[in-house]
Amino acid sequence: MASIAAAARKLSFEDARARVMAAAPGLAARLQTERVALDDALGRVLAEPLVAGEALPRFDNSAVDGYAVRAADVARASESSPVRLRVLETVGAGHVPNRQVGAGQAALVMTGAALPAGADCVVMRERTVEDAGEVGILAAAQPGENVRPRGEDAGAGEVIVPRGRTIGPGEIAALATLGHGTVVVSRRPRVAVLSTGDELKDPGEALGPGQIYDSNSHTMAAAITASGCLAGEVWRVRDDARVVADGLSALLETHDVVLSLGGVSMGDFDPVKLAIAELPQVEWWRVAMRPGGPQAFGTPGQGRVFYGLPGNPVSSAVVFDRLARPMLRTAMGAEPADRSRVRAFLAEPVRSSAGRRDFLRVRLENGRARLTGSQSSGAVTSLAKADGLGVVPEDATELPAGAEIEVILWR
Ligand code: AMP
Ligand code: MG
Repeated sequence: MASIAAAARKLSFEDARARVMAAAPGLAARLQTERVALDDALGRVLAEPLVAGEALPRFDNSAVDGYAVRAADVARASESSPVRLRVLETVGAGHVPNRQVGAGQAALVMTGAALPAGADCVVMRERTVEDAGEVGILAAAQPGENVRPRGEDAGAGEVIVPRGRTIGPGEIAALATLGHGTVVVSRRPRVAVLSTGDELKDPGEALGPGQIYDSNSHTMAAAITASGCLAGEVWRVRDDARVVADGLSALLETHDVVLSLGGVSMGDFDPVKLAIAELPQVEWWRVAMRPGGPQAFGTPGQGRVFYGLPGNPVSSAVVFDRLARPMLRTAMGAEPADRSRVRAFLAEPVRSSAGRRDFLRVRLENGRARLTGSQSSGAVTSLAKADGLGVVPEDATELPAGAEIEVILWR
C-alpha cells in the first residue's frame, strides 16, 4: 500500500462534533428497535414512552393489616371507650371481599387486600383488640385513612417514563407493575475495536523490551459497554496497513460501528491513515482539541460508522467520550445523550493555546477542580483519578487559579 502524505483537514472542536453527530441519523435508521424480555431490559434505552394502560393501583386497597370500617362508626373511639364492631370476614391480599361492610360492622383486611364495599377507612390492627367475632376499635379514623385509592399512583393514560430513558431498577418496577413482560428498546450498536501497534501485549502476558500493555482496547470495550452499546469483536493487529485495511473491512461486515486505535497521527506510515484510503466516505482530520487531535472518521455506507481514534491512551478515551459517545447515544435515542456538567473553580493555573479546546483530567474537591496529575496524553493513571474533564475554551490561553470552568462529570 502506497504512502499518502495527505494534508489533514483542520477542524474546530465544534465542527468535528457537528460532523460526527451528523452520522447519528443514519446509524439510528440502521439500528431500529427490538423487543426484549423484561429481565433483559436493564441498561437498555426505552424506544417508546411507557404509558399507564390503566390506573394504578387498579382497585382501592388497604395500606395496612387492620379493620376496614366506616369512619363514622369509629369517630368517637378511644382507648378508654372502644367502639365494638362485628367482624364479617377476613380478606387476604389477592382475595376479594364477599360482604359489604354496614353500620356496626368491620372486615379484617391484610395489606394489599381490596377494600370491602361500604368501608371507607382501615384502622391498624395495632389499634384494636380482637374478641370472639368482634373487634374493639381503640382510635378514631378519618375517611380514606390507610386506604390506597385506585389511581393514586398513576392515572390511566399517564406517561410514566419518556422514551429515551435508560432502563434502571425503577423503570423495571414500573414496567412490571403495569404488566409488561417485554419492552421495546433501541437496538444497541455493535461496536468493534481494532487496536494497532507492534509494541502491544495483552495484560497478563510477559513484556519484552520496548513493549507495553494494550490498555486502550480494554478501555474502549469498557467505554462501549458503559455507554449502553454492545462491545463486539476486539482485534489487535500489527502496524501493517494491508492487515489493518483487511481487518477494518472484515469488521465493518459484521458490526454497526468500528473503532480503530492508534496509527492515525502525523507519520506518513501510520497504518490506519493508509488503510482508510480503501474505505468510502472516510477522511482524516485534525481537531483543534487536546488531547486527541489527529483522527479519522466517516460513514462507509449503510449507516455504519468508522472512527479512527488516536493511539495515546488518554487521547482515545477523551475523543471517544467527547465525540463518539454522544453520537452513539443519540443514535440509540438515549436521553440525555451527553454527560452532565457542573461549574467549578480551578485549584491551580493552567495554560492552553488559542483556538484549541482542552479537556483537563480533574478531580473535584469542594467545588474546586484540581488536575489529577500530568496532562500528557500518555499519562493513563490520571484517567483513573479523574472525576471528569475540565474544559478550557478556545479563547482562553491562560486561566488563573480560581477561574471558573465547566467540568464534564464522569461520576
Ligand atoms: P500511535 O498513534 O499508534 O502512534 O500511538 C501513540 C502512542 O500511544 C504510542 O506511545 C503508543 O505506544 C501508544 N498506544 C497506541 N495504542 C495503544 C494501546 N492500544 N494501548 C496502550 N498504548 C497505546
Ligand atoms: Mg501505533
